[in-house]
Amino acid sequence: MQNKYDLIVAGGGFAGVCAAISAAREGISVLLIEKSNCLGGAAVNSLVNPFMPFHTKINGKTVSLSMGIFIEIIGELQKLNAIDKKLASFDEEILKYVLNKMAVSAGVKLLYHSWLCGIRKSNSKIESVSVNNKSGIQEFFADYFIDATGDADLSVLSGVPYRLGREKDRLCQPMTLCFRLSGVDIDRYKQGYGATSRLYIKMRENGKIKNPRENILIFPTLHDGILHFNSTRVVRLNPVDAFDKTRAEIEAREQVFELYEFLKKHADGFENCRLLSTAMEIGVRESRMIDGEYLLTEDDLKKCTRFEDCIALGNYDVDIHNPEGTGTSHYYFREGEYYDIPYRSLVPLNITNLLVAGRCVSATHEAQASIRILPIVSCIGHAAGVGAAVAFKSSTAAREASISKIREILQKQGAVLTIR
Ligand SMILES: Cc1cc2nc3c(=O)[nH]c(=O)nc-3n(C[C@H](O)[C@H](O)[C@H](O)COP(=O)(O)OP(=O)(O)OC[C@H]3O[C@@H](n4cnc5c(N)ncnc54)[C@H](O)[C@@H]3O)c2cc1C
Repeated sequence: MQNKYDLIVAGGGFAGVCAAISAAREGISVLLIEKSNCLGGAAVNSLVNPFMPFHTKINGKTVSLSMGIFIEIIGELQKLNAIDKKLASFDEEILKYVLNKMAVSAGVKLLYHSWLCGIRKSNSKIESVSVNNKSGIQEFFADYFIDATGDADLSVLSGVPYRLGREKDRLCQPMTLCFRLSGVDIDRYKQGYGATSRLYIKMRENGKIKNPRENILIFPTLHDGILHFNSTRVVRLNPVDAFDKTRAEIEAREQVFELYEFLKKHADGFENCRLLSTAMEIGVRESRMIDGEYLLTEDDLKKCTRFEDCIALGNYDVDIHNPEGTGTSHYYFREGEYYDIPYRSLVPLNITNLLVAGRCVSATHEAQASIRILPIVSCIGHAAGVGAAVAFKSSTAAREASISKIREILQKQGAVLTIR
């Protein structure tokens, strides 16, 4: 068994997959460690769907702000008829197949069913990580590491300082257990949605519905008669406390059943519906964010601050589901506006051979609420992989990797870093 790699990526969500693929394409050896049985992270384990919007209009022309490996994934889904025409709803079963193929053909070594559980470090360098799996405890060594666990597990194990949730009380955005209903008469559901919503709101106000969410959030799927629900809401629990997360799963499942029974009994089109599936794992919008070389703020986003070390773009709204209960706040970017994400937000304090990718980069609660979506975390991951490869080849600390080289390779690999 090979136990030494140039790079180890912990976590196989969109950030981790893109990081592993981009690094492997730069010719370095990559091990990707994932606790579940497939790649895709929340998009598969937590049934998150669809891709949130990643386009804007500049000079009358529609441009994509998320390109590179993310767009390649979309292309592969399109070839298999597994994504709708608006590039939004996708089939996560086909996605799992596509991501396996892309990672393996890039040369990434995959290790599933393995839970990162320890590290060994020397001063400010990580030497190895340990995983717990059916083989026991296994230790793997590498020169560089990327933390793409969403919850910053590797960073925390390595002693990187971090923040949890919003500044004033450490509360995180709510957790949501997504689910699907089958056997829905879609035309009648659409016609009746207004009345269904009004009844839901009334019953919630009367205390007959316990779910604190203000409305029923439903998305179409690629399958006839099946709807996707992103509509449970569990608040005030800590996603990185195991007992809290267990309580969240129990509470959310009660809410799934409450919504299922409500719709079946009261809503047009749902009379013959069945509870088809719930996600394997409750979805975590926000938990720990590392303290990095640069803390990305809401102000940076709203002012569209340009950074010399920009490695990804975004314009998704600052979409904050109320961490305390009902309500969702938004700040929408105007057409043509987009923000930069700097490389320094991927560079953690204290550790020299670690980069962080995905929803746990160095950002405030408010900034994270925008950069957390699948297209953007993919681009952040893409950049982290290239950053690690550049650092490896020049034997420098991750924070000292040449930013011009990183940007040059990213652009060669199809990423977009500026809009002309
Ligand atoms: C309920 C909900 C709805 C959302 N809706 C949308 C939406 O509609 N559209 C959109 O674009 N975005 C949406 N998002 C946001 C988006 O899904 C996430 O922010 C994004 O998936 C984060 O990607 P990531 O790669 O950083 O982390 P994740 O997708 O969480 O991936 C982390 C990976 O690391 C693995 N892992 C974690 N810890 C360990 C460990 N210790 N050892 C080994 N492996 C580990 C996990 O199994 C997982 O595969 C939603 C999020 C949630 C929770």
